Amino acid sequence: MTDRAFATRAIHAGQDPDPHTGAIIPPIYQASTHVQDGIGGFREGYEYNRAGNPTRSALETQLAALEGGASAYSFSSGLAAEDALLRSILRPGDHVLLGNDVYGGTYRLLTKVLAPWGVETTTADLGDADAVRAALRPQTRIVWVETPSNPLLKIVDIAALADIAHAGGAVLVVDNTFASPALQQPLALGADVVVHSTTKYLGGHSDVLGGAVVLGDDRFDEAVKFQQFAVGAVSAPLDAWLTTRGIKTLAVRVRQHSENAQAIAEWAAQRPEFSEVYYPGLTSHPGHDIAARQMSGFGGMLSLGLAAGPDAARTLAESTTLFQLAESLGGVESLIGYPPEMTHASVRGTELAVPENLVRLSVGIEDVADLIADLEGALARVAAR
Ligand SMILES: *Cc1c(COP(=O)(O)O)cnc(C)c1O
Repeated sequence: MTDRAFATRAIHAGQDPDPHTGAIIPPIYQASTHVQDGIGGFREGYEYNRAGNPTRSALETQLAALEGGASAYSFSSGLAAEDALLRSILRPGDHVLLGNDVYGGTYRLLTKVLAPWGVETTTADLGDADAVRAALRPQTRIVWVETPSNPLLKIVDIAALADIAHAGGAVLVVDNTFASPALQQPLALGADVVVHSTTKYLGGHSDVLGGAVVLGDDRFDEAVKFQQFAVGAVSAPLDAWLTTRGIKTLAVRVRQHSENAQAIAEWAAQRPEFSEVYYPGLTSHPGHDIAARQMSGFGGMLSLGLAAGPDAARTLAESTTLFQLAESLGGVESLIGYPPEMTHASVRGTELAVPENLVRLSVGIEDVADLIADLEGALARVAAR
């Protein structure tokens, strides 16, 4: 399957028809345990579903194929996946270097859950090679980056960062949730591990929570597999199946998300109400050239700064009708959010705080003229305040 193109792998990897009945879709194995043929006689290796479930295996095969990884493990949420990976690699006394604009939950996990365990975390602008070299320590085991980042869509050169991390004896982990493997394949660019919140673009329909760890080689394979088994934050069979179904349309969905977001970014750049448009598909974006090199499209996420300030941003976020006011992203329906009080509330007042005049859009795959009309109507309501 690895010789096939992305869209083909997304539909066929791990998705062989059921050998018993020919059902074209692998079934949802909604079972907690498997009968043994004599003690230890496991059929196809399955015994108890925390250790392994055939529906989850089908998803894990698909996930590894999407990212070009050696193996993949599926979890009940993105943060559960991150936790399993971090505990697989880190030991007390180790240091993690985080991008200074990573997902707030990742920062919270490291600074609130893993810090008492003896792991130290600092942040830096990972797009600045000198800043990264200065921030690396002998104890640095992991450099952790998101590109594009949330919510400011900053772009980091993955290949360059991988070289610096490796020279410092650290592994590079890329949270590829925003781009999705349809647009960016970090392992091929030199990263060691990819993590995902499959809740977002991979699931794609806002109906399931999940996470994944995809490993580029076998160094951490036993450790991650053991964490998954020993802690048990696994995907339930139905959740794994829904994610598998979402992934099959990832390539076409992401193409439309990107096309719609590009149109909205170009529209917003012409509107005086917006003082900033954060979208890597605009040539004016500082990361545009790197993004054009390492991504095959610019994705469905964009953020807008309101010239009139925080109150205008809050009003805009509460005034759209098609764009629903909600956390999360990556579904077929468009969402709008006010990061300082929603997705990034947990980092307000910290070094990771985001601008207060910001709204973030997860652009869906509705008709883009309808989406722009919705934003125009909301701007009129902001003006009439
Ligand atoms: C949502 C998200 C996560 C966390 O995933 P959950 O599935 O909500 O646990 C991690 N990273 C990024 C970039 C996210 O958007």
